[in-house]
This record gives sequence, structure tokens and C-alpha cells, in this order.
Amino acid sequence: MPTSLIDRTGVVFGVANKRSLAWSCAKALDSQGMRLCLTYATPRLEESVRKLAEELTNPLILPCDVTVPEEIDAVFEKITDEFNHLDTVVHGVAFAKREELAGDFYHTSKEGYMLAHEVSAYSLTAVARRALPLMEGRQGTIVTLTYIGSERVVRNYNVMGIAKAALEASVRYLANDVGPMGHRVNAISAGPVRTLSASGVGGFTKILDHIAKNSPLRRNITTEDVGKACLFLCSDMSSGITGTTMYVDSGYHIMGV
Ligand code: NAP
Repeated sequence: MPTSLIDRTGVVFGVANKRSLAWSCAKALDSQGMRLCLTYATPRLEESVRKLAEELTNPLILPCDVTVPEEIDAVFEKITDEFNHLDTVVHGVAFAKREELAGDFYHTSKEGYMLAHEVSAYSLTAVARRALPLMEGRQGTIVTLTYIGSERVVRNYNVMGIAKAALEASVRYLANDVGPMGHRVNAISAGPVRTLSASGVGGFTKILDHIAKNSPLRRNITTEDVGKACLFLCSDMSSGITGTTMYVDSGYHIMGV
């Protein structure tokens, strides 16, 4: 079957709880036989992530704050020891201070701007660079998660929209770098889903209502919709696709007035 991921390995950054989009990606990849490493951002998440991971087959669970280079190094060292190689990286990490996700964008502080970009955009490049030696000769896949606030104004999304624009541009540059090695890099632009991070965006419930009423499918997406798209992008089914942003948003991105 072209979606089979047996004998493949992957690392998933950004699982906080069962609603995390990264968790839906992990479940979809695991369901097709990929052996996974999951990382959690802070010690406070360890217990819940370990509990969730009981649903997966023999996962490796490691701490990783992506703003700490030594922690990223440690993840890839451990993966080298345990897996010896790597086929897939799923990057589902983002952060901005709550006060930067409401009101006028021009109030964004320099510190808040830098932090949002470090966690939400630069970290993709930081993990991709470390993954490459382990992906050698394996036609690796890298997938990240983005949002339409990168290209259109979404009230209150503010600095996260700018960070997502940087993230999507990073996908294109990385795709061009690693394409000659046989690897692919793509982004999924997900519609709004009520997760821990999303609850930090001012007026989020209004966004959900708007999509349910105005998207072509007239519904909000599910985390499973995202997991299935991730599986597609990490399997041989998408072998000719790289550098792209794929919308999993009930079609909302095509809408004008
Ligand atoms: P989530 O469950 O809260 O996941 C975000 C993850 O990022 C959390 O595990 C969070 O850990 C982690 N994180 C934050 N700072 C970190 C750091 N310094 N180092 C490592 N990890 C860190 O929310 P989600 O909605 O699934 O978000 C996953 C991705 O999907 C994000 O890139 C988000 O922007 C994107 N996305 C979400 C939506 C949506 O509506 N939910 C739509 C489009 C795209 P903590 O909990 O410890 O902060």
C-alpha cells in the first residue's frame, strides 16, 4: 500500500494533549507502521504526553524546548542511538505571548516578535538541519503546520501571522535545499481547531463560527483531517509534492466576499 510506513521512523514536535494537531499527525503516522519519537516542551507536559503515547506502538518520548539548542541536539542524539535513521519530521510547535494575540498589531514588542519567530518559524530550520544527516538516502519528509493568517489579515492573530509567513517561506527555501537529496518539505495550512494554543488567540470562537457558516464545506475541520493530510505528505502518495502549503481548511482559502 503506498501509505505504508513500515520500517520508517519519525519525530513529532508539539504534542501537548489529545487535541494537539501534532497528536493527530502522530496517530496517523503510527497507524501505518511508522515508529515515532514524540517530544514535549516542558516537564509539566511529560506525564500527559507519556499517557497519550500509550496509544502508540513503542514510541520514544523526549523533552525538547526548541529555544534551547542543546535540547534539540539531545533529541537527535537519542534518535541516532535508538532509530539509527530518520524518515520524517513533523513540526507542530508555535508560541506567542497572549498579550501579542489581541488588539492592534503595531503594539507588538520587539521581544514578543523575536520570541514568536524563534519558536514558531526558526525552529523548523533548526530541527531540519539536525535531521538531515539521519535522513541520508531515505527520501525524507518534513511537514509543518501553518495558518492562513500568514497571508491574510486575521484579527488578533497579529505577530503569529508574520511568524507563519516566515515559516512558509522557510518551507520553500528548505525544500529547494534538500530536494537534490531526495527529501521533501511541505506545510499544512489548517483551518481553526480549538486547541491549547488556539485558545490564546483573541475572539477564537467567532473565527470558528465564521468558518462553519462560510467555508465551502460549511463545517470546521477536525484534527483527524489534519492527521490524514500529514500521512499523505509523509507517504509515497505525495512523492512529487514539495515546497507547498496545502490547505486543510474546509476550502475557506478560496473564498472572497
Ligand atoms: P497545541 O496543542 O497547543 O500545540 C502547540 C505546541 O507547541 C504545544 O505542545 C506547545 O507546548 C508547543 N511549544 C510552544 N513553545 C514551545 C517551545 N519553546 N519548544 C517546544 N514546543 C513548544 O496547539 P496546536 O493548535 O495543535 O498547534 C500546533 C501547530 O498548529 C502550531 O504551529 C499552530 O500554529 C498550528 N495551527 C493551529 C491551528 C489551530 O487552529 N489550532 C490552525 C492552524 C495552524 P506548550 O503547551 O508547553 O506551550
